[in-house]
Amino acid sequence: MLNAKLATQSHSDHRTIIRLSENATVGGQDLLIIGGPCSVESLEQMEEVASHLAAAPVQVLRGGVYKPRTSPYAFQGLGVEGLQILETVRQRYNLPVVTEVMSIAQIEAVAASADMLQIGSRNMQNYDLLKALGQTDKPIMLKRGLSATIEEFVLAAEYILSHGNSQVVLCERGIRSFDAYTRNVLDLGAVVALKQLTHLPVIVDPSHAAGKREMVADLARAAVACGADGVMIECHPEPEKSVSDARQALSLEDMVKLVHSLKPVAAAVGRRVPEVKSRLQLSVA
Ligand code: PEP
Ligand code: MN
Repeated sequence: MLNAKLATQSHSDHRTIIRLSENATVGGQDLLIIGGPCSVESLEQMEEVASHLAAAPVQVLRGGVYKPRTSPYAFQGLGVEGLQILETVRQRYNLPVVTEVMSIAQIEAVAASADMLQIGSRNMQNYDLLKALGQTDKPIMLKRGLSATIEEFVLAAEYILSHGNSQVVLCERGIRSFDAYTRNVLDLGAVVALKQLTHLPVIVDPSHAAGKREMVADLARAAVACGADGVMIECHPEPEKSVSDARQALSLEDMVKLVHSLKPVAAAVGRRVPEVKSRLQLSVA
């Protein structure tokens, strides 16, 4: 029996809804759409992304500044300079941001700039990091470990919850398997299981699951159809030139199309893609 009393359902109808900004929640009827590049590369890049995505509408902007790369020789992220870029576009476009934190030492700076902290797959079982995140008051997006079981995933969330932070969003991003055709295998069964097992919001990252841009939109729609509370998609003004994960990045135009294509799927399962609010509405809200 899974001993995760805080993460698991006590009443079958109770669901945790997490507010990320005035206009963005996750876990309720509205889907949460997160978009942006794998890595923050420059202010110009993020301005272009934000200006397209705010109108898509995408509710949350993503972009890694501390990058967990398989090779130590690969681009490691812009670090503090990247955080400043995120802060600038966050203010200018009134878009909350999510970015990854890889170590305890980074928490303070990232929490000061971001609306939600991402824990990457490679750190899902970094228990000291999870405990420290439990002591912050920021929503945490916890990605499933590369080969983590559903139980290990729920127990990782329990670490954060049991250390005092009740705002945890689970993110299915594909797991390792024998077949290298896709980068990972998107486990939509896990989405259904996690929604039944826990009261936490569950979102899906089809980009890291597929690893191929031409598969991302279909998987995103499948995620919404099976009850995911949102999706996180990588996109870039010049996808082929992305400094990381270029093969899976969508163009900004394709990202906007994808968001629109989610609407009928969302409606069919009693969910909604939030409408864009005009700048005026945003400023008086
Ligand atoms: C990412 O979201 O850019 C990322 C590194 O994802 P993951 O931890 O799922 O590999
Ligand atoms: Mn990536």
